[in-house]
Amino acid sequence: MTANEWLAKLHEAASCPKKHMERYLSQGKKVVAVAPVYTPMELIHSMGLVPMGVWGADVEIKEAKKYYPAFICSIMQTILEMGIKGEYDGVSAIVIPSLCDSLKTLGQNWKYAVKEIPFIPMSYPQNRKPDYGIKFTKAGYQRVISDLTIAAGAQFSEAALAESIKVYNEHNQVMREFAEIASTARLTAAERNDVFKSAWFMLPEEHTAVVKELNAALKEGPEDEGKARVLVTGILADSPSLLKILDDNGIKVVFDDVAHESRQYRIDVPDMANPMDALAQKFADMDNCTLLYDKEKKRVDYIIEQAKAHSADGVIVLMTKFCDPEEFDYVPIKRACEAAGLKHLNIEVDRQMVNYQQAGTMIQAFKEMF
Ligand code: SF4
Repeated sequence: MTANEWLAKLHEAASCPKKHMERYLSQGKKVVAVAPVYTPMELIHSMGLVPMGVWGADVEIKEAKKYYPAFICSIMQTILEMGIKGEYDGVSAIVIPSLCDSLKTLGQNWKYAVKEIPFIPMSYPQNRKPDYGIKFTKAGYQRVISDLTIAAGAQFSEAALAESIKVYNEHNQVMREFAEIASTARLTAAERNDVFKSAWFMLPEEHTAVVKELNAALKEGPEDEGKARVLVTGILADSPSLLKILDDNGIKVVFDDVAHESRQYRIDVPDMANPMDALAQKFADMDNCTLLYDKEKKRVDYIIEQAKAHSADGVIVLMTKFCDPEEFDYVPIKRACEAAGLKHLNIEVDRQMVNYQQAGTMIQAFKEMF
């Protein structure tokens, strides 16, 4: 198959998650919804369950307004909206982490608004690196295991977790390889997004198999030339209209620091005797993310390093509206880009936005600076 055929397969998965969920259910599998940003998917997978991402959608918010004020991020609001409207019917439970204040409220609202799908909290520690932080993470994972046992009738074993860790580590490696190949291969911003988005709706072993083939085909294919090269950073880069504006203006995404994309694949579970300890250690080892406490803001240095490493000429910040953690990071990113001689642009994104006319004008003006 050609690269385009593999991309078409991933586009289908990215655009029809419900079809994939129904396929898994018809195979007798149980599906567990996983909310942003990090959940122990290895654990869920090891219990024979299918973890599927829920990051909201570009839908109108009506019912969720009864639970949320207007000034909260639309990812949260649309997850709840879709839950209330029955879009996730069939899943056995939803795991919601506590990584930002909005996420904490999602779990509490879910309990009342979507009573038929059990809410499983995953509480992460603020200080994730010291021994007591790792212990806290491990206790959170044990709570998830016990809640999944009740909600889905699934059983846990350390041996199965060790196997799932291998599956996820391989997927991480293949996705990192894709991100590097995509920095030069001929690929649109929308196609690049499809590869990352589809990963949320397929079992990792299935997604790994397709992306391996895609990587091989892309390596043989032509390179993108003559485009403006940018690094994109933010929570989500998933708006088809916005990605089309980047493509129409000859802007190539050469790397990303996006929570829904590469941030998921940076760190593997280390090789340790006990797989639960290893999984908790993985969370401790993670860095360079808005949601992970870091008073030194090393994420800012990471963005500049990666922009340089991938020969980017500029950085586009996709700022999720009403996302406090991301807003706090913007000024240091802007200053660091200026110091490094990188052009930068801040675009506000929202799951509710249908008209990106203003963003289009800003992107056009940004492109003319190259
Ligand atoms: S987009 Fe921001 S506010 Fe919304 S859930 Fe993610 S981190 Fe929290």
